[in-house]
Amino acid sequence: MTDAHVPTRPVVTRFCPSPTGNPHVGMARTALFSWAFARHHGGKFVFRIEDTDASRDTEESYGLLLDVMRWLGIDWDEGPEVGGSHGPYRQSERMDIYADVAQRLLDAGFAYRAYDSAEELETRRNAARAAGKSSGYDGLHRDLTPEQVTAYEAEGRKPVIRFKMPDKDYTFNDLVRGEITFGSDNVQDYVLVRANGQPLYTLTNPTDDAMMGITHVLRGEDLLSSTPRQIALYEAFAEMGIGGGFTPEFGHLPFVLGQGNAKLSKRDPESNLLDYRPKGFLPEGLLNYMALLGWSIADDRDVFTIPEMIEAFEITRVNPNPARFDIKKCEAINGSHIRLLGERELCERLVPYFQTAGLVADPPTVKQTGTLAAATPLVQERMTLLTEAVDMLRFLFVTDEDFVIDEADRAKNLNPAGVDVARAARDALVGIRDWNTASIEGGLRAALIDGLGLKPRLAFGPVRVAVTGSRISPPLFESLELLGHRKTIARLDAVVGDPGLGESGSVG
Ligand code: GLU
Repeated sequence: MTDAHVPTRPVVTRFCPSPTGNPHVGMARTALFSWAFARHHGGKFVFRIEDTDASRDTEESYGLLLDVMRWLGIDWDEGPEVGGSHGPYRQSERMDIYADVAQRLLDAGFAYRAYDSAEELETRRNAARAAGKSSGYDGLHRDLTPEQVTAYEAEGRKPVIRFKMPDKDYTFNDLVRGEITFGSDNVQDYVLVRANGQPLYTLTNPTDDAMMGITHVLRGEDLLSSTPRQIALYEAFAEMGIGGGFTPEFGHLPFVLGQGNAKLSKRDPESNLLDYRPKGFLPEGLLNYMALLGWSIADDRDVFTIPEMIEAFEITRVNPNPARFDIKKCEAINGSHIRLLGERELCERLVPYFQTAGLVADPPTVKQTGTLAAATPLVQERMTLLTEAVDMLRFLFVTDEDFVIDEADRAKNLNPAGVDVARAARDALVGIRDWNTASIEGGLRAALIDGLGLKPRLAFGPVRVAVTGSRISPPLFESLELLGHRKTIARLDAVVGDPGLGESGSVG
C-alpha cells in the first residue's frame, strides 16, 4: 500500500505482551511500530500486560519487560507504573471486568454456553475432516433447549462460553496488507471463556482494546486469523454500549525470519532482547535495526535516529513480506550509532561496561574518568559494540600484575625478532622527557624504521602487543601516551626480560 493513512479519530495504540519467558525481538519490533505510529500521529500509546495465564506468566518476566522497554526508551502514556484513566493495566487485575462482559454477551444473545465434551468435539471434528468439511466448531450447542441445558448440568458438565459468529463475510482494510476478506465458512463460533471460568485472549484482548479506546491495532501476522472474530465481537460491543462504539483499524506486521526460512523463535539466540544490552548495543542502534524489519525511511538509507523515524513513519509503507533478521547488519547499524554519539556521551555510556568488567570503580575515580574520556575518541571509530571498547582499552586500566598478553598474539609478534624490536623500542623511549604522541612517534620511527630499517607493521606490531596485550588496539602512539611513560617501559621490560628501568622509578 502506498497512500498515506489518515486516521479518522485521535490515535491510541497499544502494546500488550504476555509476560512469559524473556522479552524477544519480535515483541519489541511490534512495540516500536505501535509506539512510532502513535507518536507520528501525536496520539497515545498504551502498555498493557496480558497476564491471564497463571501457569505461564511470571513476575520475573513482567519486570524484565518493563526494564527492557525503559532501556529501549519506548515510553507509554498509560500502563504499569504511570497509571491512566483506563486501569488497571494488568489483565490479572481485571478478571471481574471479563466475567461481567461475558455475562452481558450471554444475556444479549451474542454468546452461549456449550457443553460438548472433548471427546464429542474430537469425534465430530474427525468426521467433518473425513467428509472434507471445515473442522471448526459445528455450532451444535448454539440453540440448546432449557431441558438439554438442565440435562447437561445434571451430568455435571461444565460449559465453555462461545461467541456466536454471525453468518457473514468479514472484510477489512489492513493498514499493511490492504483489503482482506474472511468468508463466513472460515470463522466458527469460538471459545471466550474456558469451562473452568478462565477468560481467553479472544475475550480479554478485544474487551480491553474497546474499553481503552484503542483506535489502531498493530501486531504480528500470526494474529491475522483472529481479526474477523474480533471485528464481530466489536460489533457486538458497539450494540451493547461497551467501549467507544467503533472497531479499531488493524495492521498486521510481517514475520521476522531467523535461521533458515523459519520464523525467528526463542531458539534463535539473537531473539533474546536481554542479551543486547550486555553485548554492548545502544538502544538507538537496536531500535534503528528493528525499524528496518519491515520498514525503511528511504531506499538508500539504513541509519536514522528515532525522532527521524517518528517523523517519517507511515504505516502503509510497511512491507508485508517477511523480514530477515541479520545480526551482522544489526551490529553494523549499532556501530553507526556509536559514531553518531558525542565523545562525552559515548564515554558516559561506556562507564557501566568498564564497571561490569571490574576495570573502573563505581563511581569512577577522577583518574579513571580522565583516562576513559581521553581514550574514548581513540576507539569511537573502531567498534560496533560498546563491549569492544572494554577489550581494546583494558590495558589502560589493569594493574601491571593483572596485565596479560594474548597468547596467540605473543606467539606471532613476540618471537625472538619481535623481542629485539621491543628492546629497541624500550631503549628509544626510556629517555624521552616530554611524553606525548609526537615525541613517542618520533622516537619509535627513528629507532625502528630509520634505525633498524623495518616496515611499520613489523616495527610497531611487537610494541603494540607488548604494551597493550593485543594486536587489536587503539592507535599506538596515542595509546602509549595515555598509558604513561613508566608503565610503557615496565611492559616493554617485562617482554624483553631485562631488569628494567621501568621498575626503578626513574621515569614517571
Ligand atoms: N498478548 C498477545 C500476544 O502477546 C497480544 C496480541 C495482540 O497484539 O493482539 O501475542
